[in-house]
Amino acid sequence: MGGIVALAGGVGAAKLLRGIVKVAPEEDVIAIVNTGDDIELHGLYICPDLDIITYTLAGIVDEVKGWGVKDDTFHCLEVLKRYGYETWFNLGDRDLATHIYRTHLLRMGYSLSQVTDEIRKALGVKARILPMSNDKVRTMIMTPIGRLNFQEYLVKRGAKDEVLGVEFEGVNVAKPAPGALEAMERADVIIVCPSNPIVSIGPILAIKGVRETLMETKANVVAISPIVGGAPLKGPADKLMRGLGLEVSAYGVASLYRDFIDAFVMDSVDEAQRKHVEALGLRVFVTNTVMRSLEDSIGLAEEILSMIKGLKQ
Ligand code: GDP
Repeated sequence: MGGIVALAGGVGAAKLLRGIVKVAPEEDVIAIVNTGDDIELHGLYICPDLDIITYTLAGIVDEVKGWGVKDDTFHCLEVLKRYGYETWFNLGDRDLATHIYRTHLLRMGYSLSQVTDEIRKALGVKARILPMSNDKVRTMIMTPIGRLNFQEYLVKRGAKDEVLGVEFEGVNVAKPAPGALEAMERADVIIVCPSNPIVSIGPILAIKGVRETLMETKANVVAISPIVGGAPLKGPADKLMRGLGLEVSAYGVASLYRDFIDAFVMDSVDEAQRKHVEALGLRVFVTNTVMRSLEDSIGLAEEILSMIKGLKQ
């Protein structure tokens, strides 16, 4: 049994993963997570997507916001503000403990994948969680006011700037995290989670060897559309896709992944695009993909795993 590998961004992926670990043995699941959105603030190393996935699987995520720790307080940030720090990036007190621990271990010489593993074990998560790379990759957004770090574009400026281009700084020399390619080669199933295709899945695919491994693996590779009814459920995927000249639709996402996926799952509201997506040479499954509750997540995970059983055999 080669297990299930999930390529993951933040909230959309976390919601699917919380379902996957309920319908498959959690120890057989490996999430390979985007780190292009990582940012250093207040002397701390912050990995938003890794933390969303870890907190969700640990059952401590703030479910209303989709990120951060539930019932967290923000006293530390208030004091940092009085010291003159910019506090546009919300960091709760409990959440800060993770960043302090991560930064401390990194300074001691641990790699990001070792630190990530320590954190998930300490929080009782049985699924493996891997950063896409231990090397620094930074997603940069080109806008009319200049080149912005992704968190500045999204959080500080509220995704209001026109997108002229996207770059993954450092990606040419970044190596996949140890074990990531091997996990994709060995997997029975690889799931491209419903995450932002440009800035969450895009950086993972841009790491050397990832796309090639996905094309060559014997695993069944399936992607779930994050675009539902012609729009993202949250976040700026539409602005980014449009900025890059792509169609904002399930079809637009399927065409980005067509060279390495076997099957594509899209929402029932997009049924009309089925033939169009099938014409890309993909198996298409249409179902309700919007996860509002744990039951929705479990239902979608069950459907995905039963749909793709035997696709390549
Ligand atoms: P982040 O959470 O902001 O880091 O971003 P993600 O990489 O998770 O991407 C957000 C994307 O996930 C958006 O395009 C959403 O439309 C999509 N998404 C979030 N929740 C769901 C869901 O329940 N179903 C589907 N199909 N897509 C979702």
